[in-house]
Amino acid sequence: TSRSPLLEFSSVHAHYGPVEALKAVTVQVYEGEIVSLIGANGAGKTTLLSSIFGTPRASSGSILHRGEDISRTPTNMISRRGISLVPEGRQIYQEMTVEENMMMGTTPVGMQHFETDRTTMFELFPRLKERRNQVAGTMSGGEQQMLAIARAMMARPQLILFDEPSLGLAPLVVKRVFEVLREIATMGKTIFLVEQNANHALKLSQRAYVMVNGRIHLSGDSAALLDNEEVRKAYLGLH
Ligand code: ATP
Repeated sequence: TSRSPLLEFSSVHAHYGPVEALKAVTVQVYEGEIVSLIGANGAGKTTLLSSIFGTPRASSGSILHRGEDISRTPTNMISRRGISLVPEGRQIYQEMTVEENMMMGTTPVGMQHFETDRTTMFELFPRLKERRNQVAGTMSGGEQQMLAIARAMMARPQLILFDEPSLGLAPLVVKRVFEVLREIATMGKTIFLVEQNANHALKLSQRAYVMVNGRIHLSGDSAALLDNEEVRKAYLGLH
């Protein structure tokens, strides 16, 4: 059966001034999938996610969401379409409490589901329930990552974008983050995951793309990429 992608980058180019950060990037994410994008620092992974929100705008090519070109759509309208980002470095509101951060997450959809969704998030993250009134900036990196995820989920996204959710976290916490991503997929969300932790990302996802220097260098089933000699050498530290 041929179905159209939920999200599709089609030959997207993007620039920072004279620097071309994305070069003819074509990527598809289908509903219900977990797709990962791996690559070295500076390859352009964050830029690809940001281009969905128009920073930078695609200078050519198209970004289709449910078949509609969103490459010129204002940022606030993107989140209202059911696309949520868990940004690199968490970007939580440090001075606000856990609950206030979660409240901020409802912006695209309003407060009518706040209590139901908060309960769901507190079941997923019991730690956040315990710390609901704590000032977010005083929590550990792992707790802040969980909060960033909970906040993004409060917008009731259909598609959730993760930018390096495991960055800077201890191995046990990294393991927990990836378990949470799996649970979120089970909740019916489509996941597009940017990671430098290629091993975890490829084990979680069904399909993956490898970005080098602003281009998609390899793509395919994650299991096949885990076995790919070049991927093993360059991204998994194996021989
Ligand atoms: P990281 O793992 O560090 O997030 P990345 O793969 O996400 O790496 P990007 O952050 O997308 O890479 O960067 C892609 C390229 O664009 C790099 O060469 C980077 O230096 C450049 N770049 C990123 N942001 C800007 C900016 N705001 N202004 C100018 N150049 C930028």
